[in-house]
This record gives sequence, structure tokens and C-alpha cells, in this order.
Amino acid sequence: MINILLVEDEDKVSAFIQKGLIEHQYAVEVARDGVAGLTSFLQNTYDLIILDVMLPLLNGIELCRQIRQQQPQVAILMLSALGTIDDKVNGLHAGADDYLLKPFHFNELLARIEALLRRRKTTEPLNHTLVFSDLKLNTANKTAERAGQNIALTAKEYVLLELFMQNPNRLLSREYILEKVWGLNFDTGTNMVDVYVNYLRNKVQKNFDKKLIHTVIGMGYILKEQ
Ligand code: CA
Repeated sequence: MINILLVEDEDKVSAFIQKGLIEHQYAVEVARDGVAGLTSFLQNTYDLIILDVMLPLLNGIELCRQIRQQQPQVAILMLSALGTIDDKVNGLHAGADDYLLKPFHFNELLARIEALLRRRKTTEPLNHTLVFSDLKLNTANKTAERAGQNIALTAKEYVLLELFMQNPNRLLSREYILEKVWGLNFDTGTNMVDVYVNYLRNKVQKNFDKKLIHTVIGMGYILKEQ
């Protein structure tokens, strides 16, 4: 299944696009403003992102730039009612792969999505792969390897590692990890996060020279190269 994130604040437009894409067997998640779009992007893995330029909280150009910084390979299609050459150039400079002017016919949107995904497939055969240093995660079959060696992970360890890999070089607090991995938005008063980070470290870095998961004392954990 192809996963698409749609960031669009006009409910009518997003409902129209979502309905059409679902009919064509795509999985679609909708975010209604730029910040919600960025949050969804950081928490999930998408094959393609459709984003509107005029968005509340964080505009589409800025959102596009931030997504590109984190993930150079994801396909981005920008939608806009702004049709000057400058608008289009700004969108493409921000990292969009294509730019579609509103209003559009659904079939044109579909054709452009298919073209972008085709292009990805030829240039990026493993688009379900997250890579950090010599660590590789396949998000489709949930497997991990380091320097070519398979690493057997439990379901929770996998989710924890995926969270780190989706947020490289970002400090993740214990509260954030607890919420994302266990769905708990309160402090359980246990050291569950620390225990699991240690399990993960034992598997991912014990037999390797380079440490990747670092403790930031009093704050949390960060995946980074030393
Ligand atoms: Ca809009």
C-alpha cells in the first residue's frame, strides 16, 4: 500500500482528494495545518506528500523545506491557488517535485502522483528503508541491520529504533518516547524507557565500535554519530 500524507486546510478540497485517492487504493492521512502536517511526517513514513501552499500555522513552502531537510527522498507535490511563475519557482526551490495549480481535475492530480511514484521507484528501489550511519531499517518488513548484519528485535524495540531513525540528531525526551512507543501521555513513574533503550543498545551497538544512541543526562536520548 502506498502511503500519502495530504496537508490541506480546506475540508472540501481534502475530502475530494482523499475520497478519490482511496478509490484508487492509496492510504491517505490528512493534516489540516502545517504544524500537524510536520508532526505526522515526523511520526510516520510516507511515500508521497501532497501539500497546499497557503496553510495555517506553518505555510506549505516552509513545511516543504523542513520535510526536505529531513528526508531528501520523499516525493512532494505542491498544490496552490497561486499561479505566477515566482510562486511556482518558490515551491520548486523549497524542494517540491511538482506543482499543481488549483482548481484541478482529479485525473490530472492522479496522473502526476503516478508519475512521481514511478520516478521514485526507478531511482529509489528501497523507499521503505530508513538509513542512519551503518544502521538500516526496513519499515515494510520491520527488520533491522547494522553493517550488513541482521539484528533481531522485539516489536517494541523495533518501534523504539524506528522512532530514533525517524528523528536523527534530535533529542527525544523520555515523555516523548513513552507517548510515541507506548501511547502513554503521562509519566508512569517507572524506568521503562531507560530499560528498553538499554535493550536496544545491547542489540544495536554492543558489538560495534561506534555508539549511536546517546544519553543526554537529565533530558533524554539522541541518535547521532559521535
Ligand atoms: Ca489553503
